[in-house]
Amino acid sequence: MVADICLTRDVINNSILHGVIKKAINGEIPTKNIRLRVGEGNTGGAPSVHVGIVGSKRCHFERMAAMNHEHDAELRANRLRVRKNFHDVGGWGACRDVVVGGLDLHHHIAHAASHEISFMALLAQLADDLDRGIRFHPAMIPSSLGGVMAFRGVDFYRIDDLLSDEERLVRDTVRRFVDDRVIPSIDKHFEEGTFPSDLIPEMAALGLFGANLPEKYGCANMNNVAYGLIMQELERGDSGLRSFASVQGALVMFPIHEFGSEQQKDRWLPVLAKGETIGCFGLTEPDHGSDPGGMETRADRAPGGWVLNGTKRWITNGSVADIAIVWAKADGEIRGFVVETGSKGFQAPEIKKKLSLRASVTSDLIMDEVFVPDDNVLPKAQGLRAPLKCLDQARFGIAWGALGAAMAVYECAVDYTKGRTQFGQPIASFQLVQEKLAEVFTEITKAQLLAWRLGRLKDEGKQQFAQTSMAKRNNVWIALEAARTARDLMGANGITLEYPVFRHMCNLESVYTYEGTHNIHTLILGEHITGLQAYK
Ligand SMILES: Cc1cc2nc3c(=O)[nH]c(=O)nc-3n(C[C@H](O)[C@H](O)[C@H](O)COP(=O)(O)OP(=O)(O)OC[C@H]3O[C@@H](n4cnc5c(N)ncnc54)[C@H](O)[C@@H]3O)c2cc1C
Repeated sequence: MVADICLTRDVINNSILHGVIKKAINGEIPTKNIRLRVGEGNTGGAPSVHVGIVGSKRCHFERMAAMNHEHDAELRANRLRVRKNFHDVGGWGACRDVVVGGLDLHHHIAHAASHEISFMALLAQLADDLDRGIRFHPAMIPSSLGGVMAFRGVDFYRIDDLLSDEERLVRDTVRRFVDDRVIPSIDKHFEEGTFPSDLIPEMAALGLFGANLPEKYGCANMNNVAYGLIMQELERGDSGLRSFASVQGALVMFPIHEFGSEQQKDRWLPVLAKGETIGCFGLTEPDHGSDPGGMETRADRAPGGWVLNGTKRWITNGSVADIAIVWAKADGEIRGFVVETGSKGFQAPEIKKKLSLRASVTSDLIMDEVFVPDDNVLPKAQGLRAPLKCLDQARFGIAWGALGAAMAVYECAVDYTKGRTQFGQPIASFQLVQEKLAEVFTEITKAQLLAWRLGRLKDEGKQQFAQTSMAKRNNVWIALEAARTARDLMGANGITLEYPVFRHMCNLESVYTYEGTHNIHTLILGEHITGLQAYK
């Protein structure tokens, strides 16, 4: 049987979308079970195209929904039975707009143009949601052919109900940005080992840098849940992008805001928020990772300032940064310095041959007699507590970010297993496969609640250091497990860059290690529980 989705005059008259349809008709994009017919069954007089989805049990809608309210209502009712919230189905809401008469498709056109096939795939997905009869999924189309899914997200426990309108708006805005601007090119960046620096001004314009800092400094002054949702959506695109925003906001802007003088805040925060100045955070050293207190970088007094000597390693954004927040021992006490990377004696060679976080710049910072003026010392940063407070900020964002990666791989695995047939059945119909999907689904839901509650506690000023450790430790772990499981469920296809799963899996190996390794967060929790330190 054939189910038709009627696209209205708006759609056909639009040249871009018309191009998509034409391509599909000519077989230039693999529409698999979708069949397109032009101008058939159009009793309304307006030109229309019917997208026929072979195998669907849905009835044939001959008219534009807008002209046939009965069908429109029926269609809506069907949709609502499957998913309560339109938004869930089509990340960018196109389903509703297409189905309900194509009235408001315009703002999706740009999206459709950049993801031509995803437009078609979304239609198929819609029908599948309606009658579960279709075996066509965006995840079945390699990304090189444009098979990019619109993200639907996971909201089994109605976390959306716990968010304010503003928080949802922030989430949806970043979600759309990631769909439109990140997903189409991130594979290429990952493959080539480059960071998509062209996105920096756009991210800045959206207020994504230091989003939870005050407007006074040019920041968005969002609450922590909104900030977390930004990190979630960015990392759904790629951990490298989230790392960039985490470092810029939580590890560079936060310490300046928290430990800096008013003059330093005025000087640096607005330009960092605009992305005109890029920052990095230098704590880790070649011989001191989990134990940063052992650092060897030294700051020695000099007239009018300090002279820094030492090497930092694994520093995100290092080679592209204009300023580096460097932690060094001055007379045995850890202090924070804003080092301008153009300073004499400062070098930041990039670390190459990484197999993880490839769409992110990671560098050494080598400081040989680098002079830092007194004006660039963070006056209120004294002792190891100061960098650890910054890490707590970044870990909070990671706890949310990991959720984005987990949802991306979960969604891909669900779609893929529903579309992949073995032994004459979709592999999603096998119990062993369902058990794995159920496990990932449950863990994502638990992790969402953890992140949400942590965000609310942070907004109320009640969040504890060890609570952040629990969320970072748990959420990164479940995301990594989700990625490994999704990879398994996708068989050989799972190992390629054609799908997001292996990329996320590789990235999450770094996320598991940085900002306190999984083991270190276990020990933080162990200390919280017992009152006994087990680090040494
Ligand atoms: C891509 C990437 C980006 C990074 N970005 C930054 C950055 O911007 N700024 C920055 O300062 N750092 C950054 N880091 C460094 C990161 O924070 C460190 O890698 C991390 O703290 C771990 O240190 P390490 O790699 O030296 O491992 P080690 O500390 O040597 O740990 C190795 C293993 O030993 C375990 N271990 C260590 N001590 C104990 C213990 N007491 N008990 C039990 N197990 C233990 C660890 O859990 C781990 O499994 C980045 C790292 C990566 C990979």
